[in-house]
Amino acid sequence: MEIPEPRTVRAPRSERLFARAQRSLVGGVNSPVRAFLAVGGAPRFIVRGRGPWLQDADGRRYVDYCGSWGALLLGHAHPGIVQSIRRAAARGTSFGAATEAEVLLAEAVKRSFPSIELLRFVNSGTEATMSAVRAARGFTERERIVTFEGGYHGHADAFLAKAGSGMAAAGLPASKGVPRGATRDTILARFNDLEGVEGLFSRQGPEIAAVIVEPVAGNMGVVPPQDGFLEGLRALTRAHGALLVFDEVITGFRIARGGGQERFGVRPDLTCLGKILGHGLPVGAYGGRREIMEVVAPVGPVYQAGTLAGNPLAMAAGLSTLRALDRLLYARLERTSRTLERGFLDAARDARVRLHIQRVGSMLGISFRDGAARSFQEAKESDAAAYARLFWSLLDRGVYLPPAPFETAFVSAAHGPEEINRTIEAVQDALLEWRHNP
Ligand code: PMP
Repeated sequence: MEIPEPRTVRAPRSERLFARAQRSLVGGVNSPVRAFLAVGGAPRFIVRGRGPWLQDADGRRYVDYCGSWGALLLGHAHPGIVQSIRRAAARGTSFGAATEAEVLLAEAVKRSFPSIELLRFVNSGTEATMSAVRAARGFTERERIVTFEGGYHGHADAFLAKAGSGMAAAGLPASKGVPRGATRDTILARFNDLEGVEGLFSRQGPEIAAVIVEPVAGNMGVVPPQDGFLEGLRALTRAHGALLVFDEVITGFRIARGGGQERFGVRPDLTCLGKILGHGLPVGAYGGRREIMEVVAPVGPVYQAGTLAGNPLAMAAGLSTLRALDRLLYARLERTSRTLERGFLDAARDARVRLHIQRVGSMLGISFRDGAARSFQEAKESDAAAYARLFWSLLDRGVYLPPAPFETAFVSAAHGPEEINRTIEAVQDALLEWRHNP
């Protein structure tokens, strides 16, 4: 992949901070994608956010479409959420003991996700998926799990797998440091390829503990499930005594209050949540059918624990967030996101740039290919260098997209007509420049 040298407004403070950061933090960052490797150039250091806006260390402002990778459905520094966190912090930051806020948030989660009868709070999406799979394996007393190429379920060893030779083969480690044994029981299938999954079940059904899937794939662009795909996974898992696990870390509270399961009407056995649930504070959750969750300690024999799990600040943020979610909010998000999508597409058409958008609600996948991608295989055909160019052209014009292709751009409820219009103007201007300077 050839990444163009970013032609960009200088950001001396961010650049200095990045140089300094690299002397004490691995790669200067605490999560790889923040280092801007996929788009080139120095990452912007952020000093504050408000509503849909970000401000960097050089005092430049951006309309933010990263939204802390989808966590900030209501925008930055939402006054009600900030106030609840402040109040909770004043009462104590952690007790390592049970609190009422955990009960209230658990009840609120259950109201949004009727498939969840019992749940457990953890500290991240990674912990949620890792623990859900452990519970699924404990409950079924089987070891194999099925995941999808291009899906992302956090960085637990079992998920850092790539396909072996042939779809039915054992997964191979996709990262150094992951032992072969950790991915041997991870089988990779193709998103939207129900026949492929059927084949896996016909050969290995009795060994498969669970299928784990993002109801809308959000880590390979935005790839919606084709009609019948999630329903098919539901039927197959049920027929073979395996569990269906929805990783709704992105989609939960995002594409509907009750996530993909509400939007598509498919009820999984287990659900993983994160991101919006803590609205920027570190939190995740996994939960589902009572009889399955009862395998988890202290009720059952599957061990899982956390010093800071159910942290009072995170619970307060979650409660405040969930209280703000109503139908009107999702209707507004849909309208705003549709306007933005149209703006991008019209600008691309006018400038004759081959830009494609796949959108589900406020999740937008921006790619450079013809037509919709149905799988990672197809999503990979997008021109990553073109994305990098778009990223920098828009950053220069005050719009912050996620700094890597295949990532989802998120619209928040704080994005109003002013920000959307500004963004569309920036896109028009950027793409017209491409036309004159291909
Ligand atoms: N599942 C999905 C679908 C995700 O997108 C992510 C993170 N982007 C995770 C799990 C992992 O969550 P976290 O980064 O909080 O560990």
